[in-house]
Amino acid sequence: MLNIENLHVNINDKEILKGLDLKVNPGEVHAIMGTNGAGKSTLVKTLSGHYDCEVSDGVVTYKNKDLLEMDVASRANEGIFMSFQNPVEVPGVNNSYFLKTALNEKRAFEGKDEIDAMDFLKHIKEETGKFNIDRKLLQRDLNDGFSGGEKKRNELIQLLMLQPDLIMLDEIDSGLDVDAIKTVANVINDMLDGKRSIIMITHYDRLLELIKPDYVHIINNGKIEKTGDYNLALELDKKGFEGIGIKDESK
Ligand code: ADP
Ligand code: MG
Repeated sequence: MLNIENLHVNINDKEILKGLDLKVNPGEVHAIMGTNGAGKSTLVKTLSGHYDCEVSDGVVTYKNKDLLEMDVASRANEGIFMSFQNPVEVPGVNNSYFLKTALNEKRAFEGKDEIDAMDFLKHIKEETGKFNIDRKLLQRDLNDGFSGGEKKRNELIQLLMLQPDLIMLDEIDSGLDVDAIKTVANVINDMLDGKRSIIMITHYDRLLELIKPDYVHIINNGKIEKTGDYNLALELDKKGFEGIGIKDESK
C-alpha cells in the first residue's frame, strides 16, 4: 500500500523529518506516537500533499505509484484520506455541498455517474445512522464555528462517505469525550476490511485499546526510532518517553 524510504522533509527551511522509513501493507493499522513537535503531523501532512511540507529527499510509493509526483487532488482520488489535527474552518462553503462535491469528484475519477441530491441524502442518512452520528452539522458551513469535537465528528462523516483506502488520522481522539471516542473506534473498526490501511497518530491509550494497532512506532529526532506492537504503547503509558529510552536530542 505505502512504502516510505529515507524521507527528508523541511518546514520553513528547518529539517523536521531526517530519513524516515515506514512500510504499510494492505489491512494494517499503524499507530504513530512521539513527543510534541517530533514530526508526527509533518509525516501525514507530507503524505497528503500539504504545501507546508517540502520534501528534500526520499522515495514514497503508494499503490506502486510515485506519491510525491501526485498533486493533492490525485492523492485524494486514489484513496488517501487525511483527518487533520486542526480541521480548517471554511465559512461560506456549505458542508453538505462540499461533501457532495468531494464525493462526485471521486466518482468521476472512478468513471462513475454523479450522485444526485436525493441519493446523496439517502446515502448519508444510512452511513451516519449506522453509527448514530448527528447530521445537523451538514446544514452548516464547513467546520465554521464547530466545537473541537464537532470538527472531529465531521471528519468521520467525510470518512464514511469517501470510503478511502489509506486513512490517516491525526489525533482524531483529542478533545473527544468517551462516547465520541467509541464512535470513532466503531467507524474505524467497521471500515477495516483487510484491505484498507490506517495510520493513526495518538497520545492516548484509550483509542488504541479500542482499535488494536498491528504496529506502534515512535518518531524521534526525525526518524522512527522504535517499533513494537500494542505492548509498546502500554509500556509508554506506564513509563513515559524517557522511561523507554526516547531522548529528544534537540531539547
Ligand atoms: P507533532 O505533530 O509531532 O507534534 P509537527 O509535525 O506538527 O509535530 O511539528 C514538527 C516541528 O515542525 C515542530 O517543531 C513545529 O513547531 C514545526 N512546524 C510545523 N509546522 C510549522 C510551520 N508551518 N512553520 C514553522 N514550523 C513548523
Ligand atoms: Mg501533531
